[in-house]
Amino acid sequence: MNRPRLPATSKSDHPEDLVAAQDAPKHTTSWGQGPLLAPEEHVLSTLERDGSRRWLYPKLSTGAWWKRRRVVAYVLMVIFVAIPHLRIGGKPLVLLDIANREFTVFGRTFLPTDTLVLALLILSVFVSIVLITALVGRAWCGWACPQTVYMEFLFRPIDRLFEGTKGKGGQPRGARSLPKQAGRFVIYLALCMFLAHTFLSYFVGTEQLSQWVRSSPFEHPLAFFVMALTTGLMIFDFMFFREQLCVIACPYGRFQSVMLDQQSLIVGYDPVRGEPRKKGKRVAGETAGDCVDCNQCVVVCPTGIDIRKGLQMECINCTQCIDACDDVMDRVGKPRGLIRYSSQDSLARKPNRFLRARTIIYPVVLLLVFGGFVYAVSTKAGFDARPLSGRGAPFTVIAPGEVSKSFRMRLVNRTSQAQVYQFSHQSDAAIQIEVLDRQQLTLSAGANRLVPFNVIFPPRLTRGSGTHRFAVEIEDQSGNRRSVPITLLGPS
Ligand code: SF4
Ligand code: SF4
Repeated sequence: MNRPRLPATSKSDHPEDLVAAQDAPKHTTSWGQGPLLAPEEHVLSTLERDGSRRWLYPKLSTGAWWKRRRVVAYVLMVIFVAIPHLRIGGKPLVLLDIANREFTVFGRTFLPTDTLVLALLILSVFVSIVLITALVGRAWCGWACPQTVYMEFLFRPIDRLFEGTKGKGGQPRGARSLPKQAGRFVIYLALCMFLAHTFLSYFVGTEQLSQWVRSSPFEHPLAFFVMALTTGLMIFDFMFFREQLCVIACPYGRFQSVMLDQQSLIVGYDPVRGEPRKKGKRVAGETAGDCVDCNQCVVVCPTGIDIRKGLQMECINCTQCIDACDDVMDRVGKPRGLIRYSSQDSLARKPNRFLRARTIIYPVVLLLVFGGFVYAVSTKAGFDARPLSGRGAPFTVIAPGEVSKSFRMRLVNRTSQAQVYQFSHQSDAAIQIEVLDRQQLTLSAGANRLVPFNVIFPPRLTRGSGTHRFAVEIEDQSGNRRSVPITLLGPS
């Protein structure tokens, strides 16, 4: 017996929901499985009650905010493409060389031994994001996130070019022809390949990438695979997944409720001014808000939500609804700003408070963490030297009046050229430093090595306590010096 299926995605067992579901128009599947619910209501902005995708074709509103965002978007696109080609002092501006575990940022190279510096840098970025969100809400999502920037200002314009729009709306005009779809796909493919190559150059550098591009993929199969995979993922995202990345996959929106407070800047609808909403002209004496219920703020929304329902996780603060509503307000002779940048408190007619716990604590934390990062970077010498105890016995009496203690020195050349290191000391003249293999004191740029050496000293130095502290002076060819304290163990 064919029975109507209740929507698989229905979240509610409320009687009204179930009645609504059963009363909804039904249609039959092409494979004759019986009636299904027509996808008339959606449970997410991109998901119908029957589980099918709700495709969004947002209408474009070319208001003042859109023009500003367009300028920012194109500047960001140029910066993204330019960064791998820029250099500071002969080094790349940014190179994340994972294979060699070297990370160059603003011309400064961080090595695997820079765990603390990298941790402070990552923590600074994280605290900055939290602070920016507390102050200006999801400005990142609407203005700078690559997903929004490329989707709204590169790929949707291509869609409109190839598919047109229905009337002034956002939906494709007429049936999609195969040649137009093929043309659209070829342009997507070319752009995604270009972006994937640019992305790859952040990890391998532009010189290596241009070599690979001019040679056969069989000579560098892994790099070719990464590039092809990145291209494929980009095509999947921008052609099919689209706003679902913001609505379903991105964790940032989910953290919004903890990162925002009532005073944070959001794109918000003013219900005090707008409600009760009413279509058509106002009759003298009737109580009606400024919202004329034209739905323009909804049809322009790239994530398919209605801003009039209040702050929602799906809102990426793209300002399209501000532009659309301002345009409507101009036409009906009302002041602009029914939807505007505001805060939840401000929309509820509560006073604005710039100084609050999170606008005081977050900047202080950021100052501390970033200050620590700047200090750690500025005090880095041209090389790192860290002493480790040698293997075997704590010390060896090699002759009457001579004790030997073995050490290993971890040397890291932080400069961009090969260096030869020299060990010396300014302590007791009877101490001798004996490097076992002097060739190991030559390190290429960025290299690191454990250099074994012995310290030979008279037993009188450790008489009494059994230990003696002294400093090994290390100097490279460029004049960088470090004084490394070590402790000698000897007969007491
Ligand atoms: S665009 Fe403005 S007037 Fe029209 S429905 Fe939205 S809030 Fe109301
Ligand atoms: S509600 Fe407005 S600001 Fe938010 S995503 Fe939709 S159009 Fe953009």
